[in-house]
Amino acid sequence: MRYLSTRGDPEQRRFCDILLEGLAPDGGLYLPVAYPRISAQTLEQWRGVYAQQGYAQLAFEILSLYIDDIPPADLLSLCQKTYTAKVFGTTAITPLRPLEPGMFVLALSNGPTLAFKDMAMQLLGHLFEYELARRGEELNILGATSGDTGSAAEYAMRGKKGVQVFMTSPHGRMSRFQQAQMFSLQDPNIHNIAIEGVFDDCQDLVKAVSGDHDFKRKYRIGTVNSINWARLLAQVVYYFAGYFQATDQPGQRVSFTVPSGNFGNVCAGHVARSMGLPIDQLVVATNENDVLDVFFKTGVYQVRSSAQTHETSSPSMDISKASNFERFVHDLLDGDAQRVRRLFQDALSSAGRFDLSSDPLFALAATQHGFVSGRSSHPDRLRTIQDTYRRFGQIIDTHTADGLKVAREHVRDGVPMVVLETALPIKFADTIESALGHAPPCPPAFLDLSERPQRVSVMAPDVNLVKAYIQEHCEAKA
Ligand SMILES: *Cc1c(COP(=O)(O)O)cnc(C)c1O
Repeated sequence: MRYLSTRGDPEQRRFCDILLEGLAPDGGLYLPVAYPRISAQTLEQWRGVYAQQGYAQLAFEILSLYIDDIPPADLLSLCQKTYTAKVFGTTAITPLRPLEPGMFVLALSNGPTLAFKDMAMQLLGHLFEYELARRGEELNILGATSGDTGSAAEYAMRGKKGVQVFMTSPHGRMSRFQQAQMFSLQDPNIHNIAIEGVFDDCQDLVKAVSGDHDFKRKYRIGTVNSINWARLLAQVVYYFAGYFQATDQPGQRVSFTVPSGNFGNVCAGHVARSMGLPIDQLVVATNENDVLDVFFKTGVYQVRSSAQTHETSSPSMDISKASNFERFVHDLLDGDAQRVRRLFQDALSSAGRFDLSSDPLFALAATQHGFVSGRSSHPDRLRTIQDTYRRFGQIIDTHTADGLKVAREHVRDGVPMVVLETALPIKFADTIESALGHAPPCPPAFLDLSERPQRVSVMAPDVNLVKAYIQEHCEAKA
């Protein structure tokens, strides 16, 4: 399998070459030259693989179609090390549970940080360690987080050889649980940097450091952000695992609703559907930051400034632009890379928007690719959390509540609807408490979390301070 940039850079690359990279050199995102198509027969064979050999083996079958530069025995062992009942809580890894008839929740949030990002990031930790050792290289991951991404990255990379993590976050602005999760890590290769500012300051600092090419090369700076192809690929697996649990007949169709921000999660669903998984609809659920809902309803994609981005009670979906969206637009435009470049490089930077409403291809988003969308607001979220607790005795988190609210608007007769659970409620305890009048249950492993000693350096938003900190910790190690 070879990979190409969405913006037409002619060089084809292999999986391990793009594994450690972010954007393609032309600013585009990597996609495989073609999606492998799965026959109905293979699909039924995989149903047996998942039931009898488990999630790790299923992951290996799927990843093997996209990764041909890691020996199969090694890839299998990486999958087996990643997807264990010990790390993810159950042998199903992503168990499905019913709500009302026809409606299901796919639990993706029982990994180490209690959000779905662990599903991909845990694999990435093992892949990075493997590939860096093979090359005899080291990598310093620099990131910015407002919560889930940073903690998932830290728990994936902790103790891994050849990798250090420098994670910036806005000082005092994450939920208490998220803060305690990150700052209580004592591994010497994990560094928390709390920036006296907001999330955008953190992102600007990361961009400024990465933009200094000499510094970047000298200190081998890398990222693990949501545009990483390996992350997206890892997420494809649970659409298959969810499908097998929701169906028992070959060829039966299922819809998925995905609480969305950067479009990484639902883009993995698009890849699974493009491979031939019988997905009926892919329902994109947004919160008040409804850039994607507006696109799927009108054909207009209009990014927002950070000042126009709402701070909501489903904060992991508070985005101003959706960084993975370019991958879908590339497929929607039938792989016309020059046009993707004009839209994402030219139109977005000059006008901050593009409009596909009058293009006949736009209609294919729904008719050929199965996309529909909806939006949920703070009152919707609270009502959905209350109603789900009252009727089913289940507590769902705020992001999953956005998904469930929108899912109900798109249910079709005879087609199971699967809502992806993207976090556990304890991560957003304050909102749950205001909805239900009591706190959500805390998993046993986290009961003493708030008492654990915390490790963090607080810093002014100054790029030289961040660079000096990285330099000091790289030299101390060398
Ligand atoms: C990251 C995240 C999302 C959004 O996922 P995308 O892949 O960015 O669309 C939704 N919910 C939670 C809890 C998250 O952490």
